[in-house]
This record gives sequence, structure tokens and C-alpha cells, in this order.
Amino acid sequence: VPNRPEDLKRLLGELQESFHQGHYLSSDPLEFVHRFQDPKDQEVVALLASLLAYGNVKQIRRSVEDALSRIASLAASPRQFVEGLASPERRKASELAFRGFVHRFNVGADLALLFALLSRSWREHGSLGAQFVASLDPGTENFAPALDSLIRQWRAWAREEDPRVASGSFGYLLTAPGDGSCCKRWCMFLRWMGRKDALDPGLWTESGALRGTFPEGRWLKSSQLVIPLDTHTGRISQYLELTRRKSLNWLAAVEVTQSLKGCDPSDPTRYDFALARLGILDLCQRKYRKHICEKCQLLPACRFARKHSRASFRSATES
Ligand code: SF4
Repeated sequence: VPNRPEDLKRLLGELQESFHQGHYLSSDPLEFVHRFQDPKDQEVVALLASLLAYGNVKQIRRSVEDALSRIASLAASPRQFVEGLASPERRKASELAFRGFVHRFNVGADLALLFALLSRSWREHGSLGAQFVASLDPGTENFAPALDSLIRQWRAWAREEDPRVASGSFGYLLTAPGDGSCCKRWCMFLRWMGRKDALDPGLWTESGALRGTFPEGRWLKSSQLVIPLDTHTGRISQYLELTRRKSLNWLAAVEVTQSLKGCDPSDPTRYDFALARLGILDLCQRKYRKHICEKCQLLPACRFARKHSRASFRSATES
């Protein structure tokens, strides 16, 4: 029997209450954004921290810290660093400063190019948010067309700026829904930009700090967000039957988001931070563990636990 939306809404609401709290930020790259108050600093740091958010938490934290200290060696703030990249000399200094940086598939030259693109977006549009919402139809169900458009534009700019870097590992930073990818890191960045509460800064929302740079009548709505699906949120979504898809691609992310809209149509990704804690903090493992699952708030809705608890009960009674 599939879970009833009202039961899911209650269980996910309780989970959100438990985990959507400031003291859990230390387990998330969003914590880096909270170190800054200026909205432009936050836009830079959010982009950096979200696009490096692959690999394990320790590795991600180390790499973001490393990138921030290289930025600090060049300018008084991330905002001043990106604004300074209008000058060819500062571009050169940035390329040199990022030499030797490595984060799994990405290298320093990828970050130098990424910040050069961000700088161009600021010069041409006022903010990255302004560029993004310019192609976001206010009536569209999700942000896929706007993200496709931004990534298309940035890929073209990257080829103009530095074709050698653009054709290498840099491409790993620019994922697009149109390619079928679940775009976990961009969905996470956009959740930070499109939701506003104690954790998510919501810089691109109707009351967001960067709204003043946007075209008239444009902003990002929380109802247009898509859940950042990673291996943890993906499998827990499968356990809760929010999707029946096996592969965690863009269609699965949209399907999970659609299911979550049954709980909150205007803000489906509100549950994402809490769901992700279950995996990141190793509170939901890949096996049915009686002592863990019996304490889990999602147990009544978890098909995986129901199936495996029956199996472990059967094997215990047969032996
Ligand atoms: S009941 Fe167990 S398997 Fe299901 S979500 Fe909770 S911890 Fe994970």
C-alpha cells in the first residue's frame, strides 16, 4: 500500500523539525555561506561550496577552506575578488593563486575559470541571480529551462575565455538537466538561493537580498525548486516510494520533487536538509538495522525497513 500524503507530510514535518537546525550546519557545505553577511560574498561562496560538494564531507570542507584561503590571499573579500577579475592582471593572479588546488576530478584552473565566468555574469547582469531569473518563466513548474540556459551560456563563455580548460575537467562543474543529469550540486545551490529560512539564505527570492539586481517581476520561487538528489537522498526517496526509478537522474529528481509537492506544494525541498542528514550522519545505513530503524522517524513510511524487518523476523524464527 503506497504511503498516504497526509502521513508522509506528518512524518517528514517531524523529521524536518528535528534536523533543520543551525547546529547541524557543521555537517553541510552551507555552513561556509553563513560565514559571510554581504549577499555578493554569499553568492560567490555558495557557488563554490555547492559545486565542490561531491566526495566525502571531510574532503569537501578541506577543499572549500583551501579555495577560500587562496581567495583571501588575493582580495579583502570574495566579492572584491570576483569584481577584480574584470582586469586581465587580476585574472592572471587568480590563475596563479589556484595552481596546485585539487578536489577529486577538479583542479585549480577549473575554479579560476568558474570565477571568471561569475565575474562576467556580474558585469553583464548585476548578479548571477539576475542572469538566472531573466530566463526563468514566472509560470514554469521548475527551473530546468533557466538552468539549461545558464549552463549553455556559461559553456559558450568558457570556450571563449579558455578553450583548453573548458574542454577538460571544468565540464564537471557545469551539469544541465537537458543532459539528463540530476544536477545535484546545482539543485543544492538553487535551494540555498530559492528558499529563505534560518538555514537557506534565499538570496534570489521575492524578498531576497539580491532581488534589487533582478529584472522587474522576476525572482526564484521555492515551488520551482527541484530536490538535490544524491546517493543518500536518492535511496531514502526510494525507500519512501517517492520515486520508483532505479537510476538517480533528472527525471527521478523531478519525480521525487513532485511527490514532495503532495506534502507541501509551495516548498517541496524544505525536507531536503533533514533527509540528507540521515545519510550524511550515517543515521540511515544501507541495511535494515533494528536498533537504528526502530528509532527512525520515517519507519512507518519506509518500505525498505518493512520488507527487511519481515525477512529478518522470518530468518530468526526459522533458525
Ligand atoms: S527506517 Fe531504517 S532504512 Fe528506513 S529510512 Fe529509517 S533508518 Fe533508513
